Amino acid sequence: MGEFELIERFFRRGATTTPAGPVALGIGDDCALLQPAPGQQLAISTDMLVEGRHFLEDTDPAALGHKALAVNLSDLAACGAEPLAFTLALALPPERARDEAWLGSLAQGLFALADAHHCALVGGDTTAGPLNLCITVFGQVPAGRALRRDGACAGDDIWVSGTPGRARLGLQALRGEITLTPAALALARAQLERPTPRLALGRTLRGIASSAIDVSDGLVGDLGHVLAASSVGAAIDTATLVQVLADSLPSPGSDPHLSEDDLRTAALSGGDDYELAFTAAPGLRAAVLATAQASGTPVTRVGHIEAAPGLRLLGADGQPISPHYRSFDHFA
Ligand code: ADP
Ligand code: MG
Repeated sequence: MGEFELIERFFRRGATTTPAGPVALGIGDDCALLQPAPGQQLAISTDMLVEGRHFLEDTDPAALGHKALAVNLSDLAACGAEPLAFTLALALPPERARDEAWLGSLAQGLFALADAHHCALVGGDTTAGPLNLCITVFGQVPAGRALRRDGACAGDDIWVSGTPGRARLGLQALRGEITLTPAALALARAQLERPTPRLALGRTLRGIASSAIDVSDGLVGDLGHVLAASSVGAAIDTATLVQVLADSLPSPGSDPHLSEDDLRTAALSGGDDYELAFTAAPGLRAAVLATAQASGTPVTRVGHIEAAPGLRLLGADGQPISPHYRSFDHFA
C-alpha cells in the first residue's frame, strides 16, 4: 500500500465539502479551504503525540486516534472555541503502514471523536518515520470573546472540571507503581487514554470565566501559566482536590499502596487529564454552576486568585504545605 492509497483508504472519507458548512474544500488539493462564520475569529492549535514520549508502544490504536484529536480539541475548549476542522500529519514506521487492522482502528478512534464534534479532517501529510501523530485543529470563536490565560483577577475563584489527577493514577498503575482495584483502574485508564475534551463547558464559560487553561501538564504548572500571564498569585485548597479525586475512584481505600500523598501528587502535578482550570468572579458562582450543569460537566471550586505573586498550596487546616509539586516539562 503506497502513501496515496493509505490516505484514500483510511483518512479520506466522502465529500470534500460540506454544503454551507465551514469546509469549502477538504482533502485532495494543495490546501483545504475553511470559511469561519461572519464575526468569528479563527482559533488554531497544534499538538503532537510521539510514541514512547506521550504514549506506550502497545497503546490501543483506537484510543490513540481518539487522544490525538482530544488533546487538540481540549485546547479549543480552553479558549471557548467551537471546532471547525483539523489536519493530521502522520509519521509511520513501515510495519505500521502495512498493518491495516492497526490503521483501521486508529482511524475509527479518530473519526468517532471528530464526528461527535462535527470536526472534519481536511488535510495532512503522511511520511515514513518513528510513529508520531501531529494534529492541527481549527476552530472559531466570536471575535474578542475567546477565553484567555491573562484575565484572572485578585479575588476570583479558581475552578476545575472533572477530577484532575486520575490520568496520572492510570499511568502509574500501568507502570506497576501503584495497584488499583479493577474498577478504579478502568476509570483511571479511560481518563489517560480517552480524555474528554470539555468543549461544551468552555463554550458556555465565555463571558463568565475571566481566564481558562486546559490541564495537560499538571494543575500546578498549568495554573502557573495563568498566574504568570495575569500577573497574579493564587491559593489552592489541596484537601478539596484530594477529596474530589478520592471520591471519583471506586473504593480507593481498598488499595493499601494508594496514600493521601499519592492522591495529592497526582491531583497537583499529574498531567494528561485535559480538564479545564478556570477563574471567575465570586459573584458568578451561580452562573458557573448553572453552566456546568447545562453542559453536563462536574466542576469544583478549589481556590482563589490573590494579588501577591506565587502559588500557595494549603492543607486541610488552611496552613501552607511544602511546595514540592512540579509539572511535566520535556526538557527539565
Ligand atoms: P502535497 O504534496 O501537495 O503537500 P500530499 O501529496 O502530501 O500533498 O497530500 C495529498 C492530499 O492528501 C493533500 O490534500 C493532503 O492534505 C492530504 N493528506 C496527506 N496526508 C494526509 C493524512 N494523513 N490525513 C489526511 N489528509 C492527508
Ligand atoms: Mg505533503
